[in-house]
Amino acid sequence: MTTRDKAGCGHDGPALPLSDALGRVLAAVAPITDSERLPIRQALGRVLASDVSSTINVPAHDNSAMDGFALRSADLPDAAPLELRHIGAALAGRPFDGRVGPGECVRIMTGAPVPEGADTVVMQERVTADNERVQIEALPLRGANVRPAGEDIRAGDVALPAGAQLQPAHIGLLASIGVAEVDVLRRPRVAFFSTGDELCEVGTPTQPGQIYDSNRYTLFGMLQRLGTEIIDLGVIPDRPDELEAGLRRAAEGSDLILTSGGVSVGEADYLVEIFDGIGQIDFWSVAIKPGRPTVFGTLGDALYFGLPGNPVSVMATFYQLARPAILKLGGLQPQAPVLISATSAAAIKTKAGRTEFLRGVLSRDAQGQYVVAKTGHQGSGILSSMTQANCFIVVPENAEIIEAGSQVDVQPFEAFV
Ligand code: AMP
Ligand code: MG
Repeated sequence: MTTRDKAGCGHDGPALPLSDALGRVLAAVAPITDSERLPIRQALGRVLASDVSSTINVPAHDNSAMDGFALRSADLPDAAPLELRHIGAALAGRPFDGRVGPGECVRIMTGAPVPEGADTVVMQERVTADNERVQIEALPLRGANVRPAGEDIRAGDVALPAGAQLQPAHIGLLASIGVAEVDVLRRPRVAFFSTGDELCEVGTPTQPGQIYDSNRYTLFGMLQRLGTEIIDLGVIPDRPDELEAGLRRAAEGSDLILTSGGVSVGEADYLVEIFDGIGQIDFWSVAIKPGRPTVFGTLGDALYFGLPGNPVSVMATFYQLARPAILKLGGLQPQAPVLISATSAAAIKTKAGRTEFLRGVLSRDAQGQYVVAKTGHQGSGILSSMTQANCFIVVPENAEIIEAGSQVDVQPFEAFV
């Protein structure tokens, strides 16, 4: 599949179902294996390149879960009360230096190591004590209120496996086992540029017929959130030589290239032909709305997505196709976006044969049930529909109408962060 008939394969030609397109994208992605060593705070959000095993037990010692008194369960009688001799204290960071013998107990604070000889802690609320004697009014069970050494992580265990994405809990856990640095996968490098003679850079006044380039900004935002290394190649005009040079330059230092615009069937839409000449096209049309004329292929070692120019199409195709590819590149296993079932506030008419992503506002009604309503204007150029929405309403390929009051799937935008 290296050439296409431009007239036949644009908006009217055969388009790949979204699930097939996604399957082909993911099949083409080989995860990055290069790694780098980082201090754990800087590794937040990154993906572990290798298993991290613990050399220590966490907690390191049997320790008290309560403020109270540590005692020997062998001393527990059949019935309360029990009187013990109070021989000292154990605090977190200041262990009791000695052994608890028969008839003895030690004052103990939460987190303090349970002294040798003792195996049970009685809560301080259950005793009356003076400096020398402790009277226990309600007997604890044997072993009560003791957190055993290694109950969180045992020495020698894999504490975190290769492939884990480091969230706040993960970097805390690494600290808890005394690990200051970890090997993480290199971040995916994504090069991108906008195409179009009409595009003007923000900060400069527009000439007649020009519009501001917004796609490089939405793309920047989405890529930044995915933790990619961003290579912004600016705006390239609709000139075949410059577009080809731009694609070649983008392929040099990147794992993945994104472009917007120039992939449709208009007069100045050169990208598909150019890409076909220098790379391998996998598909160029996907049965989704917005975003049908989406190109995917490879150029050298880089993956390529030629996204449509319309600002909403860019976001929809990025989220549905490019994002999973970038996650897999980065060593993660992309999960299908979270779907919530919601009641449609109004009827939604669509065309069968394509998956539609309408911009919706998801909320809960007085009964706590999810309801969703379309934002106003749904055109693929209406970027404000994305700022007003908090979800995509996903209308499946085979549906033609969603009746008011019926259930429809939505993808909350939070799923894409
Ligand atoms: P194209 O696919 O190049 O024909 O572009 C489709 C529509 O999207 C046209 O109205 C373009 O002006 C618009 N468009 C293309 N690229 C951008 C961009 N970077 N920022 C904003 N609008 C764009
Ligand atoms: Mg264009």
